[in-house]
Amino acid sequence: MTGSYAKAAKEALLEVTEKRKKCCNRILTDMLSLNSIDDSEERINVLIASSQHFKCASCFPHFLKGLFISSGNVTNPEKAYHLELSFKTEVERDCAMGILEDNGLPMKRTKRKNRFLLYIKDSTQIEDFFAVIGANRLAFDLMNSKIIREMRGDANRQMNCDMANIKKTLKAAGRHVELIGEMMEKGTIIRLPNDLRETARLRYENTQASMTDLGLLHNPPISKSGVKHRLDKIVDFYEEINHKE
Ligand SMILES: [Zn+2]
Repeated sequence: MTGSYAKAAKEALLEVTEKRKKCCNRILTDMLSLNSIDDSEERINVLIASSQHFKCASCFPHFLKGLFISSGNVTNPEKAYHLELSFKTEVERDCAMGILEDNGLPMKRTKRKNRFLLYIKDSTQIEDFFAVIGANRLAFDLMNSKIIREMRGDANRQMNCDMANIKKTLKAAGRHVELIGEMMEKGTIIRLPNDLRETARLRYENTQASMTDLGLLHNPPISKSGVKHRLDKIVDFYEEINHKE
């Protein structure tokens, strides 16, 4: 079921030129060649050996990137949210699942025909997956399509809603959404502290929400002034980065 979207995604990932540490490079290379190994036991050995060679913070992202390119598939987010990794045997799949879980990326298990799969269907988790492997453009596309969907959904639900009001809220949120989008695209968003990143994500995903509603979406909820304070910090951060560049 590898569609053109997944193919384009993988090509985009392979095109990323980056300075890579020796440890990461080795792991990426091993994962990219995983499917050229015929023997299942040998593939398991490569999976395990790679996971035992994680030396720096970028090793796991490279492991995941290689695994996605060699064994992964993703549906065009405009159609559905589905990302999967496919394995030839159950043991391989479970082995990979354990490694991902240990590194903070739990995935669900299933079987289709003679393939053993790990998958995620939650758009936020898919975004996280892309963010980990440095596919910020993909993460960005995904969030974009989600917003379009949400807006369409809202429009259907609120046929009689005051459009002018929506436009007003959208405009106020617009600048934040715009600069958060730019940070996602450039990948600088991952440099935000966790709390600010959560606010950035929520702002981006809920373009029509008021500051009060946005605060309630946080876990745990924060006040309206808390939201405002965080958004101000995000703007500061954005401006600081752009100043340096
Ligand atoms: Zn490394």
